Amino acid sequence: MTRPAVLFPLFAGIETLPGVGPKVARLFAQIGVERPRDLVFTLPHAVVDRRPVASIREVALPAVVTVPVTVGMHLPARRKGAPSRVMVTDAQTEFQLVFFHAPGDTLARQLPAGQRRVVSGKVELFDGIAQMVHPDHILRPEEARSLPRFEPVYPLTQGLSNRVVARAAAAALARLPDLAEWIDPALRAREGWPAWRDALRAAHSPDGLGAVMPDAPARARLAYDEVFAHQLTLALARRTIRRAKGRVTQGDGRLRRRVLAGLPHALTGAQERAIAEIAADMAGPTRMNRLLQGDVGSGKTLVAFMALLVAVEAGGQGAMMAPTEILARQHHGSLGPLAALAGIRLELLTGRDRGEERAAKLADLAAGRIDVVVGTHALFQKEVAFADLRLAVVDEQHRFGVAQRMELGAKGEAADVLVMTATPIPRSLALATYGDMDVSVLDEKPPGRTPVRTALVPAERLAEVVEHLRRAIAQGRRAYWVCPLVEESEVVDMTAAEDRFRALRAALGEGVVGLVHGQLPAAEKDAAMADFAAGRTRVLVATTVIEVGVNVPEATIMVVERAETFGLAQLHQLRGRVGRGAGESTCLLMYQPPLSETAERRLAILRQTEDGFRIAEEDLAIRGAGDLIGTAQSGLPRFRIAVLERQAALMALAQSDARALLAQDPELSGPRGQAARILLWLMEQDRAIRLLSVG
Ligand code: ADP
Ligand code: MG
Repeated sequence: MTRPAVLFPLFAGIETLPGVGPKVARLFAQIGVERPRDLVFTLPHAVVDRRPVASIREVALPAVVTVPVTVGMHLPARRKGAPSRVMVTDAQTEFQLVFFHAPGDTLARQLPAGQRRVVSGKVELFDGIAQMVHPDHILRPEEARSLPRFEPVYPLTQGLSNRVVARAAAAALARLPDLAEWIDPALRAREGWPAWRDALRAAHSPDGLGAVMPDAPARARLAYDEVFAHQLTLALARRTIRRAKGRVTQGDGRLRRRVLAGLPHALTGAQERAIAEIAADMAGPTRMNRLLQGDVGSGKTLVAFMALLVAVEAGGQGAMMAPTEILARQHHGSLGPLAALAGIRLELLTGRDRGEERAAKLADLAAGRIDVVVGTHALFQKEVAFADLRLAVVDEQHRFGVAQRMELGAKGEAADVLVMTATPIPRSLALATYGDMDVSVLDEKPPGRTPVRTALVPAERLAEVVEHLRRAIAQGRRAYWVCPLVEESEVVDMTAAEDRFRALRAALGEGVVGLVHGQLPAAEKDAAMADFAAGRTRVLVATTVIEVGVNVPEATIMVVERAETFGLAQLHQLRGRVGRGAGESTCLLMYQPPLSETAERRLAILRQTEDGFRIAEEDLAIRGAGDLIGTAQSGLPRFRIAVLERQAALMALAQSDARALLAQDPELSGPRGQAARILLWLMEQDRAIRLLSVG
């Protein structure tokens, strides 16, 4: 498929616009504008009020003022470097126009004494004298009528003036084709949104100061176009996955019942709901593509295991994939007792398996003698073959994006896919990055948790913290001590952790303190974790390798050094490592004063709440979407107009609308479907276009 001809003018070179030569084109490129299309989607971010007043006396200075004047005396620069001045009089008062480095004749030409002019620019008082330095506009009265009352202000770069951008934008807008509407007419009417072309023209010609707010109808419509195009792509991806041949996997519940009977607790309501949703998907003929979202400690592991048991009950196999070796081990460890209850065979397969042992595991997997395998990416290597893989659980932790997930889907043949995330994701981001999936949310925690007491401690009180630890250890408690991310370098982190390890060992005693970090040989890592889990060591000094998944219910103290350098979600994860048993738990967030305002706000949220969903929303509000998840790896689109942080509702609307459109018009061949195809081209949703062409 090729780009529709109606869009050609917008996808031409930027140099086809008036006033844009090679030099200006290079400047435009710096603000991400390479074609007229980019320019029309580059909206003004501010508006200058150019409505004329009779006199500068009518406004509180300093302010941008547009005012008709009579030109008076010219006062040339008295010495080199000094400004030239031109006296002008408006309806009530006299003031000065000030120019630096202005050749005398240009001023004389532009501002002939005794003539009427309209000047517009910022007026300020200097020593009680009102001055307008370098007016933005000097116009003859008849020209002044064409001055927009509200002048758009564009994103600029050194050398690129607003006037040049505005002129090019106006020319680009004049080229806009009249496109058929892709938005549901009922939705457009309800929201009071203008048609596409009108919306773009309105957004570039603001009719007031409110026109640049995201909720102005023209802006909201254009933002919707962006998220709708994105959601349409995700909906197409979802459909492609669902159309792929799936397998009907229906368990009889016999293994799940055994596990439930053996557990000391019942499922939470949220767990029951999630398991039912997953089992229903697996029993359906299409391939499952579901996301399991839940806060730290909400019991995702048990839900995932129940799903794996459905696969086993149906005579098949399940796999759980974790992003790191440590996590894979952790999952294997926590699934172990559950597998024992169910009476199934569970194995671990990682890059560390070598030689005969590995060969034996591979043979058992291929023969179906292993029911559930936990592993790292190693699971997806070519030589790993399953007898009958029916479910792949992927513990994701923000490490993959939509594209990778689709690859995975291709690999697992017709297997169902369940993705788990480590921490809650704000709703708008979940919609943007996981919009191709169905979602189950664990919004309820198992009962009986005691809240974790969270305190902020300045670094200079380190000695007190160590003293507190000594007493706690004497009472039989266990603690994590997380060392700072000094730099994006494991080596530096390691040094910090080793130094802290030595210091704590000296203070608390040999043999009480363990150390784990990413650079340790695998066997030593395991040993350190095992010692801590068994209580042989009481304090575990670690880098963030323990961030996710570690489950030692007896640990009740979490110390984080330089907490201000961590992300909120990360801190929430770390804190989630304690408060897992019945005992009272403490989280000490140590920081290096002085805290920036943002850091203070972030740490304060952690003290206020343990609700991961709320923390995630706040984190997004403070940091912005790009920071929260690396854009490239998340598959998160770069929107020019939509503000992801503030438009969760718009995103949700777009998702249901996109899915509804595809349900009504699967080939996008009806009038609205055709219009939507044009939108996909316009928004450069290449992936969607490819998916459409393969049908
Ligand atoms: P997550 O992976 O969501 O962070 P886990 O699956 O590790 O949470 O569960 C946290 C803890 O809660 C584990 O110790 C687990 O045994 C326990 N747990 C899970 N489900 C329940 C439940 N329904 N009732 C009580 N405890 C539960
Ligand atoms: Mg877990």
